[in-house]
Amino acid sequence: MRADVVGLTERLVAVDTAPGSATRGLVEQLATELRADGAEVRVQLGELDGQPQGNLVARFGGDGPAGLLLAGHLDTVPWQADQRATITPERDARRLYGRGTCDMKGALAAQWEAVVSRAGRLRRPALLAWTWGEEIGCHGAKALTADPALLGDVRDAVALVGEPTDLRPITAHKGYLIVRVVLHGEPAHSSDPWAGTDASVGLAILLRDLHELRESLRREGREHGDARHQPPGTTLNTGLVSAGTARNVVPERAEVVVELRPVAEQDGAELRRRLRACIDLACAAVPGLRAEVEEVEDNPAFDQPHAARLVQWLEERLGSPSGAVPFYTEAELYRRGFGTPVVVCGPGSIANAHRVDEWVGLDELAAGQALYADALDAFCG
Ligand SMILES: [Zn+2]
Repeated sequence: MRADVVGLTERLVAVDTAPGSATRGLVEQLATELRADGAEVRVQLGELDGQPQGNLVARFGGDGPAGLLLAGHLDTVPWQADQRATITPERDARRLYGRGTCDMKGALAAQWEAVVSRAGRLRRPALLAWTWGEEIGCHGAKALTADPALLGDVRDAVALVGEPTDLRPITAHKGYLIVRVVLHGEPAHSSDPWAGTDASVGLAILLRDLHELRESLRREGREHGDARHQPPGTTLNTGLVSAGTARNVVPERAEVVVELRPVAEQDGAELRRRLRACIDLACAAVPGLRAEVEEVEDNPAFDQPHAARLVQWLEERLGSPSGAVPFYTEAELYRRGFGTPVVVCGPGSIANAHRVDEWVGLDELAAGQALYADALDAFCG
């Protein structure tokens, strides 16, 4: 007998999919069950640090043009055995506690239950697309959008990403760009600092200029940023800074990792030029200094136009205007990769995700399942 949405969430939570663990075993198990539910299932294999991973695409209702894609990720953030949110879920009368209950195995269970409840009366196909490695850089979503043929015909489909939004329709969030800058100088004995090329001096100049850039971006955001975001413009952070190896050696190496969260209106090429200008100035100020620049991550900002029927349908169904969230999702990767309208909308609150006592409300799971079932009626019925 099938479990209900809560029992299904508990089963998904009981499989460890935190960073460093595999998802492939879970994907293969789910593939077997979804085939038994009548889906045509495709698994896209992946691997990270020796751990076998997998994306799962389950198609219900044949191979015609799909109406709705329900998307989510299988991985979670890390957990510790001595905290409440582990892979052993606990429930009370109102809440289900456990790692991934809220972000976002509860949403996967709600999507699964909804599509099975409607499987017999789909006039257009519906898809589940569940990915690995979202929490550590959207690895699975990037692999899936690189091979969209796996989904079959989704040209006319709409997509819902089930991240926890308190079931509010989310149509925007900022992007995520990570740039590592390593400055290379020449070491020397600290008794004669002029004999070397001090990378820490270049770093100091670079940090000053990066923080000037941050203030410029702030002013620009206040003047013509996107009021849906708080703060309204592109932000910059220098969260990881290091230099040198010993107190009596002139530092030959200094490093800063720059995190930028650009709004959709931000011109990416122009932002990179301004970053590059800061780096070039630092190098010019310290003769002999050389910079090595690496883009570690580049994830685009999400901005789904309001005109899409999906947005209007959700606003009406939920009685809630669409808005923005401060966290990153796979939504824009799907919007660009599949060419479908995408809205992020799922049960649970982001405030209860990633916590040591992560939880989702039992009524939130039921409401999520009901929303996805209604969406199937609207877009596949
Ligand atoms: Zn998530």
